[in-house]
Amino acid sequence: ETPASSPPSDPSKGVENLVIIGSGPAGYTAAIYAARANLKPVVFEGYQVGGVPGGQLMTTTEVENFPGFPEGITGPDLMDRMRKQAERWGAELHQEDVEFVNVKSSPFVIRSSDREVKCYSLIIATGATAKRLRLPREDEFWSRGISACAICDGASPLFKGQVLAVVGGGDTATEEAIYLTKYAHHVHLLVRKEQLRASKAMQDRVLNNPNITVHFNTEAVDVVSNDKGQMSGIQLKRTDTGEESVLEVKGLFYGIGHNPNSQLLQGQIELDTAGYILVKEGSAKTSVDGVFAAGDVQDHEWRQAVTAAGSGCIAALSVERYLVAND
Ligand code: FAD
Repeated sequence: ETPASSPPSDPSKGVENLVIIGSGPAGYTAAIYAARANLKPVVFEGYQVGGVPGGQLMTTTEVENFPGFPEGITGPDLMDRMRKQAERWGAELHQEDVEFVNVKSSPFVIRSSDREVKCYSLIIATGATAKRLRLPREDEFWSRGISACAICDGASPLFKGQVLAVVGGGDTATEEAIYLTKYAHHVHLLVRKEQLRASKAMQDRVLNNPNITVHFNTEAVDVVSNDKGQMSGIQLKRTDTGEESVLEVKGLFYGIGHNPNSQLLQGQIELDTAGYILVKEGSAKTSVDGVFAAGDVQDHEWRQAVTAAGSGCIAALSVERYLVAND
């Protein structure tokens, strides 16, 4: 297929049509669509996650639920393919973090350590970062026993049929615990406080589920391994008495929330109380005309690679319409 005809741009004034910030599934999908529409998008890929572009999936092994890969695909391989596809259609990629954004007047100004770019439209696809407990052996077992996504990893052979633990007392943790009972032999929910913060309905579902044991006043202190170096349990500590014990589990899921990477836009566009970018329902439009958001930075609910990619597509198509309408 040939790309669509080019919408108006203004290279004579040194103003780009579109800047995209972020290189996860949302950013690259937006870049593919925008590049194919001849918008010549400039992408700031960032290097915050593990010092490489590609976003959260660079920190995982197998991705089993992205359509088109019946045998699964590793996170880094999937992201490399998306990156190449964006490049192939002419997206201009820079492995730089954006340090400053001004969307208070148009053209918008975007600055990294290496360059300043002015643009008529902006897609923010900076993702979110799963909160971690910072256990001493967390890095050693990340993706090898510790996960931050039950939907992504619950059915993996590592966890299927095993005894697992979930940390957290809110809606995320209770949802993860319930979801994991589909595959796990048993699930322990570790709650630091003496009660759950989740909605009453979720509390009832967890407390009445025979496959879930809730441990109140309990925190995870570290991972315990067997002589093969595999996770065999978690060191626990009672928050009320200080008593320590070991719980035998083969997996630990974090359900303690995410931090949306929206700091750059703070005070310039509308965010919700948790810092997620607010978009008009069913669209990628933010509170500022010409600024669009896609992926986990605007989605506290679904947080999947395919939903991020879908919203990146919507954002790019919205930009195309916006530029034509504002020519
Ligand atoms: P992200 O992937 O978070 O990417 C955001 C990008 O923006 C990053 O590259 C970051 O460096 C960049 N960025 C941030 N700030 C700046 C800045 N100032 N300047 C420039 N760049 C910046 N989902 C699934 O569907 N299936 C799975 O199997 C699966 N497994 C997962 C396993 C793990 C361990 C994790 C953590 C998540 C997993 N997910 C999975 C969820 C999935 O990774 C996310 O939903 C998805 O990556 C969100 O995409 P995104 O494009 O919104 O953002």
